[in-house]
Amino acid sequence: MSDIPLQQQFAPNGEPMVVRDLASCPPPESWHDVMEYDAKAWPRKVERHYELIPTICFNCEAACGLLAYIDKETGRVKKFEGNPYHPGSRGRNCAKGPATINQIHDHDRILYPMKRAGKRGEGKWERTTWDEALNTFATKIRAAIVEDRRDEVMYHVGRPGHDGYMERVLGAWGVDGHNSHTNVCSSSGRFGYHIWCGMDRPSPDHANARFILLISAHLETGHYFNPQAQRIMEGKMKGAKLAVMDPRLSNTASMADYWMPTWPGSEAAVLLAMARIILQEKLYNAEYMRRWVNWQEYMATEYPDEAQTFERFIEMLLNLYAEYTPEFAAGESGVDAAMIVDIARQIGHAGTAFAAHTWRAATAGNLGGWQVSRALWFLSVLTGSVGTPGGTAPYTWNKFVPAPFLKPSPTDVWNELLFPPEYPLANYEMSILLPYFLKEGRGKVAAYFTRVYNPVWTNPDGTAWIEALTNEQQIELHAALTPTWNETAWYADYVLPMGLASERHDLMSQETHAARWIGFRQPVHRVYKKRHGEPIEFTYQANPGEVWEEDEFWIELSWRIDPDGSLGIRKYFESPYRPGEKLTIEEYYRWIFENSVPGLPEAAAKEGLTPLVYMQKYGAFTIPEDKAPVFQLNEQPVKLELLQGAVVDSQTDVISRDGVKIGVMVDGKACEGFPTPSRKLEFYSATMKEWGWPEGAVPGYTHSHVHPANIDNEHGEYLLIPTFRLPTLIHTRSHNAKWLNEISNANPVWIHPVDAQRIGVQTGDLVRVNTEIGYYVNRAWVTEGIRPGVVACSHHMGRWRLETGRGTDRWNSAKVALGKDQDGIWRMRQLEGVRPYASKDPDTERIFWRETGVHQNLTFPVHPDPVSGMHCWHQKVTVEPAQPTDRYADISVDPAKAYLVYKQWMAMTRPQTERADGLRRPLWMIRPYRPAASAFKRTLQPTR
Ligand code: SF4
Repeated sequence: MSDIPLQQQFAPNGEPMVVRDLASCPPPESWHDVMEYDAKAWPRKVERHYELIPTICFNCEAACGLLAYIDKETGRVKKFEGNPYHPGSRGRNCAKGPATINQIHDHDRILYPMKRAGKRGEGKWERTTWDEALNTFATKIRAAIVEDRRDEVMYHVGRPGHDGYMERVLGAWGVDGHNSHTNVCSSSGRFGYHIWCGMDRPSPDHANARFILLISAHLETGHYFNPQAQRIMEGKMKGAKLAVMDPRLSNTASMADYWMPTWPGSEAAVLLAMARIILQEKLYNAEYMRRWVNWQEYMATEYPDEAQTFERFIEMLLNLYAEYTPEFAAGESGVDAAMIVDIARQIGHAGTAFAAHTWRAATAGNLGGWQVSRALWFLSVLTGSVGTPGGTAPYTWNKFVPAPFLKPSPTDVWNELLFPPEYPLANYEMSILLPYFLKEGRGKVAAYFTRVYNPVWTNPDGTAWIEALTNEQQIELHAALTPTWNETAWYADYVLPMGLASERHDLMSQETHAARWIGFRQPVHRVYKKRHGEPIEFTYQANPGEVWEEDEFWIELSWRIDPDGSLGIRKYFESPYRPGEKLTIEEYYRWIFENSVPGLPEAAAKEGLTPLVYMQKYGAFTIPEDKAPVFQLNEQPVKLELLQGAVVDSQTDVISRDGVKIGVMVDGKACEGFPTPSRKLEFYSATMKEWGWPEGAVPGYTHSHVHPANIDNEHGEYLLIPTFRLPTLIHTRSHNAKWLNEISNANPVWIHPVDAQRIGVQTGDLVRVNTEIGYYVNRAWVTEGIRPGVVACSHHMGRWRLETGRGTDRWNSAKVALGKDQDGIWRMRQLEGVRPYASKDPDTERIFWRETGVHQNLTFPVHPDPVSGMHCWHQKVTVEPAQPTDRYADISVDPAKAYLVYKQWMAMTRPQTERADGLRRPLWMIRPYRPAASAFKRTLQPTR
């Protein structure tokens, strides 16, 4: 690399890149022809020539950059390496990035559209045409729209892999049909952030932090973990201290300066104890809090007779949190009180350079998990480290979603299958409850798409999903949009193969660090063929078999729903460059790059490129900070043009224009503030109080459903953590990556030696883990890496198929018998584990592992948190040695018990259906696909 001129070691946008460290990465000027010797020809020196085309990894949400090495002799991708010009990943990937090569060359992948030829779930399939599939769905969807059944079209997504595209499609159709996986993932964690600041994810600036606190396994497997892991290590190398709260000695915890193996669910108690120490020892940032916390509202509402001063507010906080002594927190969590005090002081001293993050983990496991992220953000607020260098920003400050051309108006429909009256504050759709709502006759789904989503396997109570998906009255037509077989696709009417990471277009941006960037996923074979003169009109022409990409599928489907434009849909899918003609996918992105990304046209022009060609060349772009600042955006002055005609509320200092809040006066300055009702950070949430949860008006500590008081270790009861990931696997998409399965092919139950002795098991023994609704059988792994009283099992193994060669890949799935016995109990038993087999890939005959891991989610009932709606994953279980008739990976589920547990959790909700204002949900709260304000009014929308 030393012979590359210095200026080439920086991205074209000026960001210093780590190209200098990557001796093997050729500079972009040579990407049209990179020579490498053929490793397999060694010791002969046989030259291979490659063209390098960037794309974006699709194996997790981090959206890291990849470089496809296309062999110029064969025209096939030979390998994927990191793209050093990608601002998030900077050329470094985890194991899953390069394993994309396994996925695209997987011999078991689906290459042609399939239609069921028997009953749903019977496993009989025939090849169909894309035309037939598109016409079938277009007819069904058009009828639903024309007959005003616009809550009967549902798009249910696991990993979107794009920013904004589908929201535009659903908006154009005028349906309220966006459903997601988020309430099995992050909706509680998001809620805790949202209620504070109106934005629902954190974005820590780890690289510049002095102290980092993580509640999850971020170096290893957390959210955006590879880009963030790099920066956590950078921060540590510059002297930052790292503390990790995790009951499991994760790889991250093993790298930390402080490991706090808290009892799951006690995290908020520890965080509030830290907050109290920071307050007591006056380590808080008084000026920041005085200006940006809504303390005046809190004092005026809750303590009108007290002096309405900031100083009195601080005294009230100390009173409020008086019981949260280090000793109390130590008693709840099991973490040493002295460590809690030490960390609290270090956080206080780090001040504005305190970075913190939680994702999934405690927030996803516990009843009231949202109080954990809320208590963590409280520490960021106390230290004034919100959106500072080295602090933690709300994610929208570090993410950039460019606007497409012609955005549809929001729909006036509200779908109560997604946001039912019991959950007015749910942070995302109540996705896990869909099978029960359908069973109860709350509605039906006329056309259902699952995309990168496998609810039968991923969601709790998967057998309820099997029952819903096989019921043609409840779900009339279902297409699984997926590159590979999965357990849910088995029950669909159509299986439509969609492209993998290097076979599709998407635009992505993630809050990986203190900057804003976009990444361009592109079909590399299409780009390569076009560059070399092949006439490619659609991506499927360059993909293997008849693999489409979703973007083109939705354009095509929308034209067929509204062929003459009379429904007002077609216009959104017409070219912005060729009026009245069908939009091409290149035109869609070309328009965005030319019009919506600040600085990109100029950067492209400097190289003599169009913005589209620039993005095709580099695959990513960082928005210059002068065009998109990232720090302390709450302090930004309200734009002068907006102030014309604006009014200031004399009580609250909130600035409004035409009834819309646009800012707040702070020390005489009109600032944009935060998108909350007070435009400030809401320590006190009037929303919580008004919507039935007064005890949640301020950050607090909710006893989880798995609080130690509910679990008796001496009598065989344990707390099961089922949420942790291995760094090498993904929920359902890694099953066709042979390298990843070779690395990780077991998910034993972690048990502390003390507990193992009590139970009477050793490593490798079979144990039966009994849940509320059934059990599973797995092997024990006895380790001090888990705290006593808690057991843990990672969540991405135990894939199954009902046939050989179809259903899921054979690298990691077992052929099973699955069905209901005469007592109505679902049972699964493995018929055949992993075996070597003959195929086009010689590696299939080299498979050395035999077990598949064990699926556990089927044995969990739903636990919807009554506030956030999040499924609370942690389970109270009993663990015992396996019974004589038990076999590895046996599963048993009682659906009647599962339904009872669902009803018990529903009984905890507080529906707000009698409100005078008729609102279904606070107007200020976000929704992933947001209908018009009129749809928020129940009085205007009869419930179907
Ligand atoms: S962290 Fe790994 S799986 Fe996720 S996008 Fe980056 S390389 Fe891909």
